[in-house]
Amino acid sequence: MIDNRSGKGLSFVKRIYLPRIIGLGIGLFSVMAAIAPLHLPDWTWALLLFNGLLWPHVAYQWALRSATPYQAEQRNILLDSLMGGFWTAAMQFNPLPTVTILSMMTMNNVAAGGVRVLLRGLLAQVCGMLLATALLGSGLQLQASSLQILACLPMLTLYPLALGWVCYQLAIKLAEHKRRLSALSRTDSLTGLLNHGSWKDTLLLKFQICRQQQLPAVVALIDIDHFKTINDTYGHVVGDCVLRQLSQELRRNLREDDLAGRYGGDEFCVILPGTHEAQACQAMERLRERVGAYRNPQLPALRITLSIGLADFRPSLGSPEQWLEEADKALYTAKRQGRDQVNFAHGEVTPLKLAYPE
Ligand code: GH3
Ligand code: MG
Repeated sequence: MIDNRSGKGLSFVKRIYLPRIIGLGIGLFSVMAAIAPLHLPDWTWALLLFNGLLWPHVAYQWALRSATPYQAEQRNILLDSLMGGFWTAAMQFNPLPTVTILSMMTMNNVAAGGVRVLLRGLLAQVCGMLLATALLGSGLQLQASSLQILACLPMLTLYPLALGWVCYQLAIKLAEHKRRLSALSRTDSLTGLLNHGSWKDTLLLKFQICRQQQLPAVVALIDIDHFKTINDTYGHVVGDCVLRQLSQELRRNLREDDLAGRYGGDEFCVILPGTHEAQACQAMERLRERVGAYRNPQLPALRITLSIGLADFRPSLGSPEQWLEEADKALYTAKRQGRDQVNFAHGEVTPLKLAYPE
């Protein structure tokens, strides 16, 4: 069954499950030790055992089955606070277990929902205290026995550990999501290559490196010939397959350092660092031939040819845009000269008005 509630707080419910089992399970010792000498009615013991042992599972199932698990879990947290307040009054505010329970619960509430849950939790705790006072009477027990102190130790040590662990896991998950989102924002969804913006950022970086370290590099602009006709003849789905096929050929034919992107539409772009004209021409000729030789048994008449414009880095270039413009001119010439060919820019560059700073 596909669960369509995942965006409504299921992971929140699951995240809280284990800390609640641990927190209430070990909190049980501190409350039991504190109420043992008070001779409270039997139902309080039954309620305490339910709260410490069964409630985490009831709360979990209740929230899981809810149409809005996040809201259900918020209600469960309030009930936790209500019961926490109840037990502090039931144990007649015995100092150490009271502070232990209230502080752990407050830490939990802040972690779960910030100031809002903290304040609502405090209110629920006060309600719980009033309820216990109404049902069991009031009293003040300011002396804690050594057994009562010992019974608080598991809660004081283990619960922060459990909550810290949950927060750490959450931080790891968030970092992973951030990394994935950042990669997605740099990737072209159809081809998996760098997208326009990301490739232009890389071009700027490579331009600066070439300029500072006097390194050679070539930029290539690759455009599919008559791609519109391919779309019109075979449909856009086939058109998309052709774009993906070309991106795969690019990956297969390029070195690890070469940076390929989809410039837009049927136009692709590559930075070939540390490469001179002859090597770049050779690499692009090889790509053009491979793509030209591609045959699809289902579409025997389909042919893919490429026009490729190349421009190498020269210190006289004023900006990465100018470098790109040279490659674009070379591509335009390749198109004009009949397509299905590689053309290298040899023309003089007109410096742009906005020269790139040294
Ligand atoms: P030329 O040989 O001069 O390059 O001609 P062309 O038909 O390849 O160039 P043109 O710019 O006229 O057409 C490009 C087409 O690419 C137009 C557009 O509909 C199509 N296109 C752009 N993006 C996509 C895409 O993501 N998928 C598909 N299938 N088509 C796309
Ligand atoms: Mg085209």
